[in-house]
Amino acid sequence: MISPKIQDAINAQINAELWSAYLYLAMGMHFESEGRAGIANWFRIQFKEEQAHAEIFINYLNSRGGRVVLKPIDAVPESWESPLAAFEATLAHEQKVTALINNLYALAEAEHDYATRGKLDWFVSEQVEEEETATNFIERLKLIGNDGLALYMLDQELASRVYNVPAPLAAK
Ligand code: MG
Repeated sequence: MISPKIQDAINAQINAELWSAYLYLAMGMHFESEGRAGIANWFRIQFKEEQAHAEIFINYLNSRGGRVVLKPIDAVPESWESPLAAFEATLAHEQKVTALINNLYALAEAEHDYATRGKLDWFVSEQVEEEETATNFIERLKLIGNDGLALYMLDQELASRVYNVPAPLAAK
């Protein structure tokens, strides 16, 4: 069995991952409406990844005999003034998620719940990747500036991103 404290914290994390999914879906829809199909594709895949993150926690809580409780998902913004602004918002959001994962990790240690701590290791590495990816796009978009052709080429590049089931879910 899992402690009520850890169960509540994981349920809060499930909600945070689903909010992330909702945020990236909104970004995808925004860029779809702006005619940036590649950037839209990139965010729609990000949406699927965040849903997968929620599912990993859902499966884990179930495997520990816990109870998944789905809370309302808060509203997300509707538009961003540029691709750069969207990736800056992405980085700021992922930094918040990193802090949530770290807090959960610290709680698992404080509660001597080493199974939960171990489960979080993959998420700790995943957050490094998420922040690095967003940072790279911010740097590239700053270089692109107002160059329409360069932005068109980046959009083409992002159109080729495909969804890969995250390892902890694929192994399930
Ligand atoms: Mg996530």
